[in-house]
Amino acid sequence: MSEQSASDCFFCAIGSGAAGIPFVAERKTVVAFRDISPQAPTHVLVIPKDHYRDVPSLAAAAPQVLADLVEVGRLVAEAETGGEFRLVFNTGAGVGQSVFHVHGHVLGGRPFSWPPG
Ligand code: 5GP
Ligand code: ZN
Repeated sequence: MSEQSASDCFFCAIGSGAAGIPFVAERKTVVAFRDISPQAPTHVLVIPKDHYRDVPSLAAAAPQVLADLVEVGRLVAEAETGGEFRLVFNTGAGVGQSVFHVHGHVLGGRPFSWPPG
């Protein structure tokens, strides 16, 4: 069940398949697809098919779907980056969230610095 109506949400259209964007992986509850502006050799977004605005909302409403999302991220990294990856959930516009349908950025394939910018 969706958290809210999201008829104008492009990531909902991606998750349903209506946008025609190819999936890197798909499970019953989540899909993975390549970021349009990759920041690393592997930059895949993993999203729930249902609409939640951010990761705390998803964790509170559907923790198993969040677990599914993390597992798909792990599988993408296993296939593409030797299993090492950074999983980022920007939460709030002030820290860089620009799409308010929760998405985990799976980043890998190059060294990363810490702390992030
Ligand atoms: P955020 O800034 O919300 O954490 O991440 C949103 C991400 O979605 C960005 O990395 C951006 O490049 C990606 N993105 C935005 N629009 C599209 C799109 O239409 N297709 C794909 N594949 N990625 C998108
Ligand atoms: Zn949505």
